[in-house]
Amino acid sequence: MPIIDFHTHLDDRWFDTPLLSEDDFIAGMDRCGIDIACVFTLRGFYEDCRIHNEKLLDRAARHPERLLPFMTVDPRFGRAAIDELERCIAIKRFYGVKFHPWIQSFAPSSVKSTMVELLKRAAEAKLPVLFHDGTPPYATTYQIAACARWVPEATIVLGHAGLSDYILAAAQLIRDVPNLYGCLCGPRTADVRHLVDIAGADKLLFGSDFGLSDWMVIDDRLDSVRCAGLSDEIQQKILFDNAGKLLRLVTV
Ligand SMILES: [Zn+2]
Repeated sequence: MPIIDFHTHLDDRWFDTPLLSEDDFIAGMDRCGIDIACVFTLRGFYEDCRIHNEKLLDRAARHPERLLPFMTVDPRFGRAAIDELERCIAIKRFYGVKFHPWIQSFAPSSVKSTMVELLKRAAEAKLPVLFHDGTPPYATTYQIAACARWVPEATIVLGHAGLSDYILAAAQLIRDVPNLYGCLCGPRTADVRHLVDIAGADKLLFGSDFGLSDWMVIDDRLDSVRCAGLSDEIQQKILFDNAGKLLRLVTV
């Protein structure tokens, strides 16, 4: 069964900690049977977004079929953030947008007018927008769901489907907010089962956070899906089909 990993980080270091080279990243994907990975920056959440959007494109360029880059911008900069988003959209090599309100230090409501504008433009470009979620004070699952309600035409993905503390909320919000999806990057086996039972299987995606650590995290996350007692049909949706539709790799 082909697999899309909707949540990984492809960067050369996290502060003083060196991360995987592109070759080691691809080797980890191969080892765990991951065909395609959505790749995000890490240092770009702390430093100049434009520089790191470009670095990410470079790092992904040798594997254009397998590594799908997501841009990031810093909504605290207002107009400059919108300009950078538009610049990246115009390049036509990004497959989505990633925000990490917790690391990027913004509460979505404190930058609402800029965020609404960013989400509208992402929606026009048909790009999904994945937010880190599951951690206060800036990225509770409720705060990210609010962004989805502000711009119903945008596709918003909870990057951790509640992570651990907000699983119950995530399940209900994914069920109730039509344009809100959940990436199963963090929820454990019983939580995955709960998310499927409450939210259904059509808006859940597989993700691992691979790149922050080695390939073992992929197998760990895959086990959380594979051991949840789900039918093959549901696993196929979670591991490939739902992500393929959001990334427009397969026809809806
Ligand atoms: Zn992550």
